[in-house]
Amino acid sequence: MERRSQQIELNPNNKQSTLMSQHAGYARVAFNFGLSSFKVGLDNDEWRTYVDIKREFNAVKHDAFDWCKELSQNASKNAIHNLGDAVTRWKKGQNSFPVYKKRSDKISYQADNGTGTVEVHKNRINLPKIGWVRMREELRYKGRISKVVVSKRNNRWCVSILIDCDISNFNYQPPLFDNKAPMGIDVGINTLATCSNGDTYDNPRPLRRYERKLARANRALSRKIKGSQNWQKAKAVLSGVHDRIACIREDAHHQASIRIVRKASAIGIETLNISGLLKNRKLAKALSDSALSRFLTMLKYKADRRGIPITEADQFFASSKICSNCGHKKKDLGLSDRQYHCSECGLDIDRDLNAAINLCPA
Ligand SMILES: [Zn+2]
Repeated sequence: MERRSQQIELNPNNKQSTLMSQHAGYARVAFNFGLSSFKVGLDNDEWRTYVDIKREFNAVKHDAFDWCKELSQNASKNAIHNLGDAVTRWKKGQNSFPVYKKRSDKISYQADNGTGTVEVHKNRINLPKIGWVRMREELRYKGRISKVVVSKRNNRWCVSILIDCDISNFNYQPPLFDNKAPMGIDVGINTLATCSNGDTYDNPRPLRRYERKLARANRALSRKIKGSQNWQKAKAVLSGVHDRIACIREDAHHQASIRIVRKASAIGIETLNISGLLKNRKLAKALSDSALSRFLTMLKYKADRRGIPITEADQFFASSKICSNCGHKKKDLGLSDRQYHCSECGLDIDRDLNAAINLCPA
């Protein structure tokens, strides 16, 4: 049994979308109620468990929040449950003390009532008290649905579904490439991935366009009075652009990583030296860096699921300075040198390809 999660965009009608907002609001109210109750408990040297808090909440909710009768009680129950988890982790020193949720925070709620309580049929999901909501795509995994979280991202509703599935369901991969070979991968900002067999995966082109949009949205925001209505609007536009960039980038990373993994029998990667990258590359914005390490993480887990061994080179392994033909190590290699010339053996090769060959596992 393994767990997989899939996030799918929802296509709700107006009524459903209003109901989802109400459920998210209900979850927030229940969480905050629980948190203040827990704090009162702490002040009286009493550790209130989520069962205690739930009982307390259920006793007062129909008077205090009579609008909740129309809504699914799973939203409040799960919110209090999550609060219980949060304070338990806080007690163990694993995270900081939970804070009250604000209206402006992420809008979300957990809709299920335990494993197997939410039904999915093709591209529709049956959310309690909301009914059948259309999804943009079907579930990729087969199995029992153990958790369903509805959230709003960039003004669009989506659902995150956690599935307990049988491993045999997803170990399958199309037999596209018969002759798999070990592969070294050099990751970078200009070219996302260069493989030792000569394949390259570019960073998506739309990103440049969106980076200009991002700059414009940032300037627009800076001209507004902080906290004003127009500032709020500009902020929403900015976070929308951010979200779009993240989506495009993530999609490109998924596509590149799955293609690499399908072709490789073993994979060698470098350990990213983030601070080194920041120092060196003009383009290395914090965003790009975190994205590159996420890309490597994707490669790792996808390889792992398919049983493909993955080796990480030592952080100080000079993959771009060593000649992949004779092993000679250059002392100086400028970042603008896109081509590698070896003074010993006369090799003339693309810099990234040279690095990828050096990273290739034997
Ligand atoms: Zn050489």
